[in-house]
Amino acid sequence: MSSIDSVAQKYRGLYLSAIAQGLETVLGQAETHALSYLQFAETLIELELQQRNGKRIEQNQRRAGFPVHKSLDDFDYVFQSSISKREVNSLLDFGFLDNRENVVFIGSPGVGKTHLAIGLGLKAIASGYKVYFSTALTLIEALELAELKGELKKKINQLLKFDLLIIDELGYLPMNKQGMHNLFQLINALYEYRSIILTTNKEFTHWGEFFYDGNVAVPIVDRIIHHSHIFMLGGESYRLKSKLNN
Ligand code: ADP
Ligand code: MG
Repeated sequence: MSSIDSVAQKYRGLYLSAIAQGLETVLGQAETHALSYLQFAETLIELELQQRNGKRIEQNQRRAGFPVHKSLDDFDYVFQSSISKREVNSLLDFGFLDNRENVVFIGSPGVGKTHLAIGLGLKAIASGYKVYFSTALTLIEALELAELKGELKKKINQLLKFDLLIIDELGYLPMNKQGMHNLFQLINALYEYRSIILTTNKEFTHWGEFFYDGNVAVPIVDRIIHHSHIFMLGGESYRLKSKLNN
């Protein structure tokens, strides 16, 4: 007759560490609750699946590269009343990701655009999606570097592995011709294939200003807004609110 330890050791040998660790407890539960053989088998495999799922989510959170952790649970819809909790919650079934639609948050600094984008990104990861966060500036720099190395296509293909690309702060700086061309290549590859959450301080009609050639803004904007949920966020800066309260 094998001991629990020696059986656990065999599970460990097959990298089923959650089962190895939980074996004794589950055996106890099986006795106490008179589990059927099938229930017992299922309980064991569920342990392993849960642990793996948790690890995958942690890994995807690290890969996403969020600059800070922001939760939708901490978002104050009283202060930011241009968007309702219901509207945000309606995005959380992630139909927009399955349908390859985009989300755009437009508003001046401090109104909560990045907070909402990161909060949505974290929820998407918890639901099993792969997300990548980048500021527009960093993204354009990365594309430029790749382009100089003759690896633009490769870089874009890497980004296409994510279900959702969060591009934060488009519009704070003007972009040169090559930067705009590279961005267009990326947006074109993502179009109707992957989703984008974009935050920007500029309304679409002003987008020409931060593209080297206003005319080229048109096809980029067109692709982003074609299938998109657009939220205009008004009101005061939340940063100012914290200053006034302190
Ligand atoms: P934006 O990206 O629009 O410039 P942020 O999302 O970075 O603004 O918000 C600035 C700061 O204020 C962040 O620390 C953010 O968490 C916080 N903040 C903004 N709006 C809200 C809100 N409605 N509820 C809670 N915190 C908020
Ligand atoms: Mg921001």
